[in-house]
Amino acid sequence: QSYHPATLIQGLSGTTICSGCVSLCAQMNGKGSKLGQRKPFQKEELLKKLLVPAEIKQKLDEYVIGQDRTKKIVSVAVNHHYKRVANPIHKDVELEKSNILLIGPTGCGKTLIAQTLAKILDVPFAIGDATTLTESGYVGEDVENLLLRLIRAADFDLTRAEHGIIYIDEIDKIARTHNNPSITRDVSGEGVQQGLLKMLEGTLCNVPPQGGRKHPEQEYIQINTRHILFIAGKQIGFDIEAKDLDELGLGEILEHIEPEDLMEYGMIPEFIGRFPVNCIIKPLDLKAMIRVLTEPRNALIRQYQTFFQMEDSRLEFTREALEEISKKALAKKTGARALRAIIEELLLDTMFDLPALKKPVNYLITPEMVRGTEPIQPVKESSAAACKKAS
Ligand code: ADP
Repeated sequence: QSYHPATLIQGLSGTTICSGCVSLCAQMNGKGSKLGQRKPFQKEELLKKLLVPAEIKQKLDEYVIGQDRTKKIVSVAVNHHYKRVANPIHKDVELEKSNILLIGPTGCGKTLIAQTLAKILDVPFAIGDATTLTESGYVGEDVENLLLRLIRAADFDLTRAEHGIIYIDEIDKIARTHNNPSITRDVSGEGVQQGLLKMLEGTLCNVPPQGGRKHPEQEYIQINTRHILFIAGKQIGFDIEAKDLDELGLGEILEHIEPEDLMEYGMIPEFIGRFPVNCIIKPLDLKAMIRVLTEPRNALIRQYQTFFQMEDSRLEFTREALEEISKKALAKKTGARALRAIIEELLLDTMFDLPALKKPVNYLITPEMVRGTEPIQPVKESSAAACKKAS
């Protein structure tokens, strides 16, 4: 092993071991890697701390704007999932796994919901992209690599990993490509769905510790997926403005989408069956976009304001400026994802120059600045403060 220039720990016999090696041994034992950072995972603790659905929803509200019904559904599903972890069979009733399928347009909170759930529950989280998965033996990624990511996120504490959450994005990309599966082998479609089936349901999986493809002489990490919660994201490419949704009654239609409808998209029935909880993610409208900018705990505007505060400076936006940014983002049709790039571009020169000024400066961003018809200029403290009060 390589030498770790870290703390040396002396044992009773006088021999020493460095903290890097302790951490390595801990990994090999599946007991968490970072010295003193985390206690080994205890299922009982997770269950003791398990929040009721209303508490989970309340926490989700701090990070995820809108998507109310979906947040309610996933809060119940997650609560049920961990109850089932405690009692897979309760009074002779076998409780089924409640993997979740989130269906909706890009950039509107699918990954965010999955990620936030893991944060709320304090369980490890891994994201995988279905587009990279192929059937075992073909060029691409084995489905087991999803598990390796989770094991890494759990710092090689296997029990912890076995109670984590995996988000599989773009599940629609592994739709079978034709309706007659017997024509040729469909390595990136039905084959992968088949490969994932057992894992979704719960099975003992052999994971190559270094990732990549399996080969016979290799040693494997064995992980049971029985208690891993899988959340899948499926993009529905409806190119509709959020405001039109209600007029068209589409919001309503989407809420009543049935698993059978998904078969038309090339998902095999057994695969759909592994995701008993389906929810719809709605597109974000202008109002929601403005809320995304300002309201979540780690809202984008707050993040940028913090950077300015670090320079003893202030950054404020007029309400109209926030609207203008949101309109620009809506036009890109990538949901809230476009917001960051727009602000980054807008503030680039200012953020480039500010630290070198070495004095407090205040900025008030107006819609003209967002449109690029006026340059960003410092303002007097009083006008920025007045704006803050007004907004
Ligand atoms: P997708 O639905 O494609 O998985 P994401 O959840 O990754 O999209 O969203 C992309 C980014 O946009 C997130 O990191 C988050 O900052 C922001 N975002 C999207 N939807 C919401 C929402 N409903 N509330 C708050 N932020 C959101």
